[in-house]
Amino acid sequence: MSEKFQAVVIGGGPGGYVCAIRLAQLGLKTACIESRESLGGTCLNVGCIPSKSLLNLSEEFHKVQNLSKKGIEIGEVKLNLSKMMKTKDKAVTVLTKGVEFLLKKNKVSYFKGVGSFKSKNEISIKDSNNKETTIITEKTIIATGSVPVSLPGIEFDEKIILSSTGALKIEQVPKKMVVVGGGYIGLEMGSVWSRLGAEVHVIEFLENITPGMDMEISKEFMKILKRQGIKFHMQHKVQTIKKNASEAVVSTIDKDGNKNDFNCNVVLISVGRKPNTESLNLNAVGVELDEKKRVKTDKNFKTNQDNIFAIGDVITGPMLAHKAEDEGIAVAENIAGQSGHVNYDTIPGVIYTTPEVATIGKTEEQLKEMKTDYKIGKFSFMANSRAKAIDDTEGFVKILADAKTDKVLGAHLIGPHAGELIAEIGIAMEFGASSEDIARTCHAHPTFSEAVKEAALSVDKRAIHS
Ligand SMILES: Cc1cc2nc3c(=O)[nH]c(=O)nc-3n(C[C@H](O)[C@H](O)[C@H](O)COP(=O)(O)OP(=O)(O)OC[C@H]3O[C@@H](n4cnc5c(N)ncnc54)[C@H](O)[C@@H]3O)c2cc1C
Repeated sequence: MSEKFQAVVIGGGPGGYVCAIRLAQLGLKTACIESRESLGGTCLNVGCIPSKSLLNLSEEFHKVQNLSKKGIEIGEVKLNLSKMMKTKDKAVTVLTKGVEFLLKKNKVSYFKGVGSFKSKNEISIKDSNNKETTIITEKTIIATGSVPVSLPGIEFDEKIILSSTGALKIEQVPKKMVVVGGGYIGLEMGSVWSRLGAEVHVIEFLENITPGMDMEISKEFMKILKRQGIKFHMQHKVQTIKKNASEAVVSTIDKDGNKNDFNCNVVLISVGRKPNTESLNLNAVGVELDEKKRVKTDKNFKTNQDNIFAIGDVITGPMLAHKAEDEGIAVAENIAGQSGHVNYDTIPGVIYTTPEVATIGKTEEQLKEMKTDYKIGKFSFMANSRAKAIDDTEGFVKILADAKTDKVLGAHLIGPHAGELIAEIGIAMEFGASSEDIARTCHAHPTFSEAVKEAALSVDKRAIHS
C-alpha cells in the first residue's frame, strides 16, 4: 500500500524544506523529496553557504596579510587551500544535517530520490539504485530550484570550464581566471580567487556590472573592485572557448569589433541559471511552463492544476534563497486555509564581497521610468565614526523617498555590513515608513547603522556629520 500524505514537497532547498516544515507546523501530514545526497538545495550545498564561507575565509587571508600596515606583526602568512576547503565543507555539512534534524523534529517524512509525477495524486520516488516508491498526495508543491546555464555549445567540465559549483572547489589557486558574466555570483567567486592570488578578468557583454542594480552603486562597486585588482572587459561578447588539458582561451569581440583572446587556467561561466523541471515528468499532469520554461503560477503559487503549486527559483522572480523561503511559507499557509503573502517590493538583494552591496525597493532608474518624483538622501561611510575607527570607510548609503509623502521607496548601500544594515530599511518599508521615521529613530553610537540614519536625515538636507 502506498503511503498517503496531505502535502508532498518536491525539492529540499530553502523553498522546499521551509515549506515542508511550515505545512507540518500547520498540522498537515507532509513529505519532502530531495534527489541530492543532502538537504538544503543549491543554497546550502553549492550556493549561498559555501560561497559565503569562502568569501569570509579569503577575506580573512587577505586581511591578515595586510595587518602589519596597522601595527600587527604576525610573520609569514601561508595559504593551505585544502584545509580552507575542508572548513567550507564542514560549514555545509553542519547546516545540511541541521535541516535533516529540523524535518525530523517537525515530523516531515524525508524521501531521498528523484520525485516525479505519475498522476496528479501519485508521486514516484526513484532512489540512486533505481528502486521506486510511490506515494499518494492531496497537494504537491514543486520546489525543484534552478541549475547553472552555460554559453551555447560550451559544456562545463568543472575542471577548466567551471560553473559556480566548480568554482567552489578549485584544488589549486589558478594563475589566471576568466569570469564570464558580471553578475553577483561571478563577482563573488571572482573576489574569492582574486584574494587568494589569482589574476581575475571579468568579461561582460553589457556596459555595466550587476544589471538591474541602482546605477550609482553599480559604478562605485566596479570602481572598488578595480582598485582591488579585478580587471574588467565590458561590452565584450564571448565567441568561443577553446581548451586543452590545462588551459583555456576565451575569444571575444568587443563593441568596436576588435577581437581579443584571453588565455587562462580556468573559466567561470556565470551567465545565469535556468529552472530545473526536467526530471518532474510534468507532461503527465499537464503543468504549464512560461516562455522561460519556469513553472507558471498565479499569485497564490497555484499552477494551472488545482492541487499543484510551485515556489522558489523554479517560478518567476529573483533567484534568491530568502525569496524561495518566504514563498514556501506563504504557499503552506494558503494550502492550510490562511492568507500567505509575499511582498515583492521589499525583497533585499545582497552581494557578499568586501565591501558588501545591498539593495531593496526601487532604483533611481526605475523611479525615473515610473515618473515618480523622489528625493535622495546619501551618506558616506567616510564620515561614519565606527567605519573611521576601524578603517573601513569605503562606500555609502543612499535612500530614495517619495518627494511628496517622504515614504521610503528604495535603499541602496555599498559598504561595511551593508547586508545586515539593509534589514532595518526592509522593516521600515514593510511598515510604510517615511525617511523621517528612520531619521528620528535613535541609533546606537558608534555603529555603521548611524550611516543609515544620516542618509535618512540627508533626504531633507539635514545630515549632521557631512
Ligand atoms: C554560487 C551561488 C551563490 C548564491 N548565493 C546566494 C546568496 O548569497 N543569497 C541568496 O539569497 N541566494 C543565493 N544563491 C541563490 C540560491 O541558492 C537560490 O535562489 C535558492 O537555493 C533557491 O531555492 P529553491 O528552494 O527554489 O531551489 P534549490 O535550492 O535549487 O533547491 C531545489 C532542490 O530540488 C532538488 N530537486 C530538483 N529536482 C528534483 C526532483 N525531481 N526530485 C527531488 N529533488 C529534486 C535539487 O536537487 C535541489 O536540491 C546563490 C546561488 C549560487 C549558485
